[in-house]
Amino acid sequence: MAKSLASLLLNSPLSPPSSFSQSLHHLQAKTFPQSQSYSGVGTRTKPISASMVEAQPPVRKEDIIIVGAGIAGLATAVSLHRLGVGSLVLEQAESLRTGGTSLTLFKNGWGVLDAMGVGNDLRSQFLEIQGMVVKSEDGRELRSFRFKDEDESQEVRAVERRILLETLANQLPTDSIHFSSKLAKIERIETGETLLELEDGTRLSGKIVIGCDGIRSPVAKWMGFSEPRYVGHCAFRGLGFFPERMPYEPKVNYVYGRGLRAGYVPVSPTKVYWFICFNSPSPGPKITDPSVLKKQARELVRNWPSELLNIIDLTPDDTIIRTPLVDRWLWPAISPPASSGGVVLVGDAWHPMTPNLGQGACCALEDAVVLAKKLSDALRLGPESVEGALRLYGSERWPRIFPLTMRANLVGSLLQWDNPVVCSVRNNVIVPKLVRLGPLLEHTNFEFEPL
Ligand SMILES: Cc1cc2nc3c(=O)[nH]c(=O)nc-3n(C[C@H](O)[C@H](O)[C@H](O)COP(=O)(O)OP(=O)(O)OC[C@H]3O[C@@H](n4cnc5c(N)ncnc54)[C@H](O)[C@@H]3O)c2cc1C
Repeated sequence: MAKSLASLLLNSPLSPPSSFSQSLHHLQAKTFPQSQSYSGVGTRTKPISASMVEAQPPVRKEDIIIVGAGIAGLATAVSLHRLGVGSLVLEQAESLRTGGTSLTLFKNGWGVLDAMGVGNDLRSQFLEIQGMVVKSEDGRELRSFRFKDEDESQEVRAVERRILLETLANQLPTDSIHFSSKLAKIERIETGETLLELEDGTRLSGKIVIGCDGIRSPVAKWMGFSEPRYVGHCAFRGLGFFPERMPYEPKVNYVYGRGLRAGYVPVSPTKVYWFICFNSPSPGPKITDPSVLKKQARELVRNWPSELLNIIDLTPDDTIIRTPLVDRWLWPAISPPASSGGVVLVGDAWHPMTPNLGQGACCALEDAVVLAKKLSDALRLGPESVEGALRLYGSERWPRIFPLTMRANLVGSLLQWDNPVVCSVRNNVIVPKLVRLGPLLEHTNFEFEPL
């Protein structure tokens, strides 16, 4: 019952932009008088009298609320914290995501993690990946590269998502993250602030709300963004565990088949991440039984190089997942802006992209650091600068995000070809003779203002 009420509320349309600018004026004029409230993490929470908002029970008043404690949410909170700006993170789950697999992070991701002060801690736990080997399904090597031959400054490591999240969360003051706090309703109130109602009835108002709530973001939906679009293929992922020591060189290993591709990457001395991407006209039913998932994944690559099957067999059940791949193209003039009336999106909530370039999380990290810097500068100048800073964040990040989303989609389509002639040209001409890794990884160059 509570659930259906929540979804009804979340489906309510966004207030029209005109009322937004009115409320923004109100927000600037009436609710940002204090200059100190954003800095100093300890001063974040303040009680307010019920008269400030019409409805009961009383509303807990916050300056900055971040919805979602994934990579985007935690990275944004950590970046703000490093700049002396406090925030409250609301996460629907009971704890940080503990299962899950790993993410490959390139030098743009590492640059941001360094700025957040966690790069070296993570580096010490994960292997540096030296290069990439591409094979055909019969095990024939089509091409190999060394990352540093293409770009001396490139850094590639696969990082366990759980450890990345824990490392980021550990940078935050105690009680910065509220778990079991699922956003159920969002509404702009006449003070210009944003009122958030959680599934358990808790009500909070935020001067700034940062939606980091992932691909099915309720905040993005409320802002008028369309649902992400299924791109026609799904991915199995898992994390193989070798109790003694995994036997593979630290390289990304790809196998290209017809309408099917797979890969594995050593993560640490005992763990190897693997994935299989397969074409499917529809996302298919959600399967939660890991033994079924493992069987399906094995079946897809049963005649492929045996190390892949070996890694799948050594994968603990709780790390196997199947995900339909989706994205959303942020067409200019058609997509809503990234921010609206003190509400702004970061990471997958704003720009879900397919994982074909390994850039979704890297870009979420980039967003976090750019937004935090702009926001803290604006807060120093005065509350009237905030809306401009949020707009600037959107306009600066869009030219980075939009082409990457399209390119990731295009690369995925090329790699999922299933026509035998086209696949033969790909495997015998394009991959061995034409592809150059350097230009393909140029998007990992990213500069930003230090925190
Ligand atoms: C198969 C696959 C492989 C990938 N590989 C890579 C890779 O190698 N490298 C890379 O950089 N990226 C990769 N990505 C992309 C990466 O996983 C995402 O871009 C990244 O996780 C986005 O982080 P996020 O914090 O924006 O969203 P999420 O990780 O989805 O976090 C959103 C958080 O918000 C919470 N939330 C949602 N709704 C609510 C609500 N109503 N109330 C409160 N909390 C809520 C969720 O519980 C969650 O904790 C891959 C993605 C896929 C699907």
